Formats: sequence, structure tokens, C-alpha cells
Amino acid sequence: MKVDFIIVGQGIAGTSFAFELLKNNKTFVLVDKFSTHTASRVALGVYNPLILKWFTKAWDIDNQLDYFYIFYNQLNHFLGDNLFSDIGIYKFLKNPYDQNNWLTKQSSSCRYQYMSKDLCSINNQGLLNQNPYGLVKSAGKVNVQLLLNLFRDYCINKNLLLDTKLDYNKLKINSNSIRFEGIEANKIIFCQGYAGIDNPYFNNLNFKPTKGEILTIYSKDLKLDKIIHSGFLFTPIGNDHYSIGATYDWKDMTINPNVEAKTKLIDGLNSILQTEFTIINHQVGIRPSTFDRRPFVDVHKKYNNLYILNGLGTRGIILAPYLSKLLINSIYKNGTINNEISINR
Ligand SMILES: Cc1cc2nc3c(=O)[nH]c(=O)nc-3n(C[C@H](O)[C@H](O)[C@H](O)COP(=O)(O)OP(=O)(O)OC[C@H]3O[C@@H](n4cnc5c(N)ncnc54)[C@H](O)[C@@H]3O)c2cc1C
Repeated sequence: MKVDFIIVGQGIAGTSFAFELLKNNKTFVLVDKFSTHTASRVALGVYNPLILKWFTKAWDIDNQLDYFYIFYNQLNHFLGDNLFSDIGIYKFLKNPYDQNNWLTKQSSSCRYQYMSKDLCSINNQGLLNQNPYGLVKSAGKVNVQLLLNLFRDYCINKNLLLDTKLDYNKLKINSNSIRFEGIEANKIIFCQGYAGIDNPYFNNLNFKPTKGEILTIYSKDLKLDKIIHSGFLFTPIGNDHYSIGATYDWKDMTINPNVEAKTKLIDGLNSILQTEFTIINHQVGIRPSTFDRRPFVDVHKKYNNLYILNGLGTRGIILAPYLSKLLINSIYKNGTINNEISINR
């Protein structure tokens, strides 16, 4: 089988890159060892233009968001489902300092489009605090599990996915072709998330992996259809189920659920809810974060047919489509990659 690209990894990075290739009439095979513990499969799926701690804009967010809507609408159409809900995020403003800070930051011309002018309430008796909240606009939630499953099914049906672990020793690389398990490709891209720290072709990158944990709960009476941020993100996932997360741990890189993290998340739940709930699930993933909080999007320095798309950190849902587009433009359309996201920065 001959293709333009082998894509290693079918998280949100590999999936976004694959979809961009499809749109550009390029061919690919995805190599992905299925696991329920990958960052993309555990992620809450929330997208958000602000750093909610400071009410400042996230890096390069205006460009990323513009493309976010184009990309996910195209993917909705392609996969025949509704993959995202642009419902905003209700940020709980717990004291006068936070409330004033919100109102001051909101009035800045670069932020007003993302922050409600007025503070608002949520009319729901199951919440401990029904006000005051600031509404973050151009924010919401992507159903990442559904997206990955639908795209995976599409690829399996078209014979475009190998459910196997890519063994670097079996990779044959020369200047104009790449071979792996009977596939011959012009190029290969590594979209491996946390597992990319062991990649011998892109080693010595400044990853700072971060373990994150979430809880899923069932609450029959809550009937909440809004995303709330109050220390943690609390989001409805359907059928009276909700997720809360996520924790941050830079030391323990096992995928074992941690009791301390669970306690923090339960405390978080108790500070948001005053209705009964049952814990249904506790999940763990490792975010592919980097020391300077910028991704790695680049070509290999020696082999010009090896690429990397990684380091998406805490914001993979919004970063993956935009970075995939940038990289494809640089490969096929003479676009440039900013030094800020290069591997040699
Ligand atoms: C608890 C938690 C909550 C989060 N919440 C959010 C959120 O709300 N919003 C947001 O934007 N981000 C969130 N994130 C971050 C987000 O999940 C990541 O930025 C993103 O998922 C990274 O995607 P990725 O495709 O780079 O990596 P991954 O999702 O890790 O995917 C990599 C894929 O590559 C495969 N792979 C790796 N090596 C090989 C190999 N050798 N052979 C075959 N396959 C291989 C893996 O099996 C995996 O399928 C969260 C993360 C965590 C842990």
C-alpha cells in the first residue's frame, strides 16, 4: 500500500492532521494502538479562549478560534454528527476581587468578545452558588470520545488504520520513502502525545508531562445543562451524568488513579453542588505538556520527510486543528512555521 503519510497516533492531534490531509486530497494510514487512557480519550473536551485564573487570553487564541469553528463544522458534516456544543462556560466569581477583576478585564477591547458584560446567575437549586458568574463566550465542549470513535470507524472501514504499536526498529527510513509493515509512504508524522517522549527521532524535547484525573458522576436531580468553572471544570455529559476535572500532577506518571486527586475532585464537587451524586468513574490521562507551554510542530532536521505534531498540553482540542492546518500549509503550500513552535526554539 502506497500513501502520502503514515500518521502515528489517533488522538486529537493525529485525527486533526488526518482530516486536514483528506481535505487536501492526500492519502494516509494511521498507526494507533487503541487505549482508553490516552489524554484525548480522557479529556473533558472543553475549549475556552481565556486563562480562567487570570482572565487573560490564551496564546494566539483569536487565530485558533477562527479555525476551530471552521474545522469542527466541517468534521460535523463529514462524520454526520454534532460534535461540539458552543454553550459557553460559567465562571464562578467567588469574591468582590474576582468580580471587579472580571468587569475590569471585560472592558478591554481585546477581551470583550469573550467575556459577558454583566455578571449573571444560574437558576438551579442543585448548585451551592447560583450567582455571581461571568459567562465566557466562544467556549464550550467537544465530544472527543465520539469524534475519535467515528473517525476511527471511518478509517477502519476504508482500511486506513493499523491498530498496532509502532515499533521504531521496524521503521525503514530513507530520503524519499518510509516503510512500515507493508506500507510505503512519502512522509511520516508522529502525533503520539505523552508517548512521544520516547521517540528516538525527536528526542531531547522539553516535555513536561502532566498527569490529570477526572471523575464522572451521576446526579438524577441536578438537571444542569451548563459548564461551570469553580476551581475545577464541571461539565454535563448527558443522561444525568457529569464530569469534573482536572487535577495536575507533575511527579507521578503512572496511569493509576490517585486517592489524593480523587479527594480534591470530591471537595471540588462539594463546593459546587448541594444535591446528591454518585461517583461512577475515575479516569487518568497524561497531558503532553511542555516547559514553555508551546507545542512542537516541525520537520526533522536531518530527514525532511519526518514530522512532529505534539506538546498540545492542556489545550489540545483547540490547538490540534489550527496546528494541523499550519503544518500542512508549510508542507504543501509554502506556508511558514513560526519559530515559537519549532523544535529548535
Ligand atoms: C484529565 C485530562 C483532561 C483534559 N481536558 C482537556 C480539555 O477539557 N480541553 C483540552 O483542550 N484539553 C484537555 N486535556 C488535554 C488534551 O487531552 C491533550 O492536549 C490532547 O488530548 C493531546 O492529544 P494528542 O493527540 O497529542 O495525544 P494523545 O491523546 O495522547 O494521543 C496519542 C495517540 O498516539 C498513540 N501512540 C503513541 N505512540 C504510539 C506508537 N508507538 N504506536 C502506535 N500508537 C501510538 C496513543 O495510543 C494515542 O492514541 C486534558 C487532558 C487530561 C489528561
